[in-house]
Order: sequence, then structure tokens, then C-alpha cells
Amino acid sequence: MHLSRRDLLTIFLGAPFAYAACSSESSSRFPEGEIVGQSVTLGHILRENRNFDVPPDNWETKNVAIVGGGVAGLSAAWKFRKENFNDFVLLELEKEVGGTARSGQGEPVNYPWGAHYLPVPFQENAELISFLDEMSLIEGRDAFGEIVVKEQFLCREPEERVFYKGRWYEGLYMTAGASDEDKRQYDEFQKQLDHWVNWRDAAGKRAFVVPIAMCSTDATVTSLDKISFADWLRQNGFTSNRLVWYCDYACRDDYGSKLDQTSAWAGLFYFCSRVRKSGAESQPFITCPEGNGQFVNHFFDKVKDNVRRSQVVVSVVPNEKGVDVICLDGNELRGIHCAKAIFASPMFTAPYVIRGFRDDAPFAANEFQHNAWFVANLFLKDRPKPRFTKDFPLAWDNVLYESPSLGYVTATHQKGIDYGPTILTYYYPMCAEENGRTKLFDYGWRDLADVCLTDLARAHSDIYELTTRIDIMRWGHAMISPRPNFIWSGVREKAMKPSRNIHFAHTDVSGIALFEEAFYHGLRAAREILS
Ligand SMILES: Cc1cc2nc3c(=O)[nH]c(=O)nc-3n(C[C@H](O)[C@H](O)[C@H](O)COP(=O)(O)OP(=O)(O)OC[C@H]3O[C@@H](n4cnc5c(N)ncnc54)[C@H](O)[C@@H]3O)c2cc1C
Repeated sequence: MHLSRRDLLTIFLGAPFAYAACSSESSSRFPEGEIVGQSVTLGHILRENRNFDVPPDNWETKNVAIVGGGVAGLSAAWKFRKENFNDFVLLELEKEVGGTARSGQGEPVNYPWGAHYLPVPFQENAELISFLDEMSLIEGRDAFGEIVVKEQFLCREPEERVFYKGRWYEGLYMTAGASDEDKRQYDEFQKQLDHWVNWRDAAGKRAFVVPIAMCSTDATVTSLDKISFADWLRQNGFTSNRLVWYCDYACRDDYGSKLDQTSAWAGLFYFCSRVRKSGAESQPFITCPEGNGQFVNHFFDKVKDNVRRSQVVVSVVPNEKGVDVICLDGNELRGIHCAKAIFASPMFTAPYVIRGFRDDAPFAANEFQHNAWFVANLFLKDRPKPRFTKDFPLAWDNVLYESPSLGYVTATHQKGIDYGPTILTYYYPMCAEENGRTKLFDYGWRDLADVCLTDLARAHSDIYELTTRIDIMRWGHAMISPRPNFIWSGVREKAMKPSRNIHFAHTDVSGIALFEEAFYHGLRAAREILS
């Protein structure tokens, strides 16, 4: 795409900032790097309308095939192995498993390419706890039966800081300079959250909890899905700029969508689902340099004998005996006769891959819409210099208030390596424009690297000098969009039912992209098959 630098920066960072960035002539050196990951093979192959006739010698038989090796597919595989069921294969199109929770290997530490934390689960989430226990992350239980995670796996202080008008402040909500009215609205907002944290339906179910399958289906709560979070804030008299920013940040951070693109149910879910009781802090975060890559690596270790990578599943054919799964292994077509399949790849791909899906659709696949992101990993030879001696120090999560990006996470933080080289993972959700996904692929490495460095330079003037390399991942279908009228519209319930021996397990089925949701659906699908 031929755009001037100013146009490019205007699209991504806004006109005033682009103007300022382009007027100050810079002789800064530009680091090297490349676009990595996410193969676009599947899309190309399916569009080519190829013939998928498998040579007779290339057929084999397995009881179950799992399509997709993200957290959902890996969780299903983990459950199978835990239950001593071994007659299955997991097929992943990429060279590495993990999907949006995959990580990279580097120096001085590894780093995430997407998901980077998991809040400590409540005691009710027994299967997730047993997984964390298997990883030796748990130290014991507290007096109330909640798990205690070993300190080295819990996000280290300082956790978060925000850059606002030239300096860094602790936390994410901007308390510095808040007016009395800002404070009143913030307190009132907390009261509303407390109300929903304490709320129980007639059966004793919480309004918001993880996994979503445990949430109340009472209309008092689900009706919140009908309006946007922006409307909910307006209806409740919340107009304070910093509060509105805080809520918008939350939606962009967890869902890749803005306030007015997110349902009020999803907005409140973000704030309430990980708070045990009113007044309590949200559950602490489990993290490590490679983020949720640590869980992916553990899964892989347990199930690697059943995993086949670089296998593009091009056709899933239900028949009277079960399901035939056809995949492209390099240039060779291979087929697997199975009794059942777990479909753990994004739901929108179902009509393209599953034969006959469109003729008798079990659910409306086009309702599963995604937001796009780009993620950049910057390899720094040293830490950015603080602008003031009293500036709040580098944290795990570093957010830029005036930027449409989400800022960056510091990979070395959790290891307590506070000096010398580090890796910063920069996140940019493409939610400012319609068709963010299509547009994302119009931009090449140089464009996106320029956006990232220019954005970070507002807080770190030495970023060009320090960055030796910048690699970029474009996530076209990064996260399911919990837009108004989606989560409780009924479409997810239909997708959760097996259809023609195919069980759907991708996190999309929850309407929210989270590790816990992918894990829940992977286990659900595996359990359905085992039973
Ligand atoms: C930038 C970003 C940040 C995130 N941060 C967090 C976070 O901090 N915490 C959190 O809990 N969640 C986070 N998430 C969400 C989290 O990563 C996901 O909810 C979860 O990992 C999804 O797992 P999944 O298996 O359902 O799907 P995916 O990760 O989408 O995996 C699907 C897999 O299927 C494969 N596949 C697709 N089609 C085929 C085919 N035809 N044949 C074979 N294989 C196929 C894909 O290659 C992929 O590996 C983040 C997501 C993104 C994009």
C-alpha cells in the first residue's frame, strides 16, 4: 500500500500525533526484523478450490482427530491422555502448536506472541487447578479453600504503570489530577461492580464468573448483552474522561474492541468475573516471560506423541461411519478415518472446511466475528532511560494513555532481571476502523515497525537507539468479538452441541477469548467423546 508516512501514522496513531512525529526530522537508525508466524496457507488452499482426493495408500484410521493445536485442542489432547485414551491425533497447521498463546525463544528470556497471563482460578474451577497443580505452580490452600500459587509465578511488582502527558504513573486508572467529580464517579463505578460481584440468581449462580458456562442465565444479567458498554456507562451517568478511558482500555485489552463495540455484559464481565467478593482485589495474575506459552509448552510435553505439526486440515467429511479428516502434509494429501473429530480451529473456518456445513448449518458461523491485532517483539540492548529521576519505574505492563495501542509488556520483569537487554512485547488492536483485519494485511513489516517505534518514542526517546531487532506477528483473526447481542443470542449454545460426530471446542464458542475458556471447551469436547 502506497501511503505517505504521515498518512500511515495518522491511520494508526491519530492526526495530531502523526503531525508532530513527522515534523521533528529524525536521523534515527531503523532496526532490522521481519513479519513472523501465522501462515496464510489455509486461506489460499481453500480459495484455490483444489481437489482433495487422497491416494488410497495415504489413509489411516484413528478413533479421534483434533483439528487445531491452540489451547483448546491441546486441552482436549491433555484430557485424553489423562484418561489413558491414546487413539487420537492432533493436527496443527503451523510449525508450532499454541495458536494465539504461542511464544518465542530468545535471549535473555523467552517472550509471548499473544496471551501473556492467567488470573488465579477460583477454587470451583477444579480441572484448571489440577492442571496448574500438575505444573507444580500451587503451594497450598488458604483458610477459605482458595489455591495459593507459588510467589515466583505471580506477577511481580510493579505490575502496571500508565504514561500520561509526559510521565509515568503507577496503576492503570489515572488518579493523579482527578477532580472531585472524577473521584465520585470512580467510587460509584466501584459500587456498581460490587453490586454485580455480590449478585446471585435464584440458583445461587454468580452474574459473572470464569468459565462463562457457570454464569447465571437470568435475564437480569443477560439483558446487559443487548447494549454496548459505552451505552451502559452513559445510562449510569458515567462521563468522567478518565473513567471512560479506563473502561475503553479494558475492552481493547481483553477483547480488542472499543467501548461502543463491546457489549455491556462483556465489559462488566472483565471487571467482575475474577473478583471473589465485593471489596476484594481481582485475582492475581500467573505469568512468566513467555506468558501463556508456559502452559502450551506443558501441554505439548504431555501430548507430543499425538501431535502432528505443519498439517493443514483442508476437509472434514462427516459420513455414516464417522468423520474423514483430510490434511495437506507438505504437498501430500493424507486422510484419517475417524469415529469423531474435535474442531478446535476458529469457528468461521467451519463452513470452508467441513463438507456439507453450508447445506445444513448447525449454527451461524458468520456470527463468530473476530478482531485483528498486530503484536511486535522489540529486542533491546538496554533499558530505556527514565525521563525524570522520580518517574514511576518500568513495570510488567506499560500502557500509553494517549495511544490507541495497549503499550507493552516487559519479558524480563518476572525473572527479576532489571538491568541490561530485554524484550518488550507491544500490542496494537485494530479496532479503530471497520475491516481492521483486511487492512492489517495491507501493511508490511516496515510500516508496522514504524508505527510501533513512533508510538513508543513518545515515552522513550531512546527507543530507536536501543532496539536491535523488531519482529511482527499479524493476527488476522486474533480474538472473537463480544459485540452487543452476540454472547447471549443463542448462537453459542447451538455451536456447543456436537453435529455429525464433530465437537466444536475453540474459545470462540465462549464469545470471549481467554485461556480458561479454551481450556474449558477443550475438556468439554474430550469428555463428550470419552463418555
Ligand atoms: C494478542 C493476544 C493477546 C492475548 N492475551 C491473552 C491473555 O493474556 N490471557 C488470556 O487468557 N488470553 C489471551 N488471549 C486469548 C487466548 O490466546 C485465546 O483465548 C486462547 O489461547 C485460544 O485458544 P484456542 O485453541 O481456542 O484458539 P487459537 O489460539 O486460535 O488456536 C487455534 C489453532 O488452530 C490452528 N488451525 C486453524 N485452522 C486449522 C486447520 N485448518 N488445520 C489445522 N490447524 C488449524 C491454528 O493454527 C491455531 O494453532 C490473547 C489473544 C491474542 C490474539
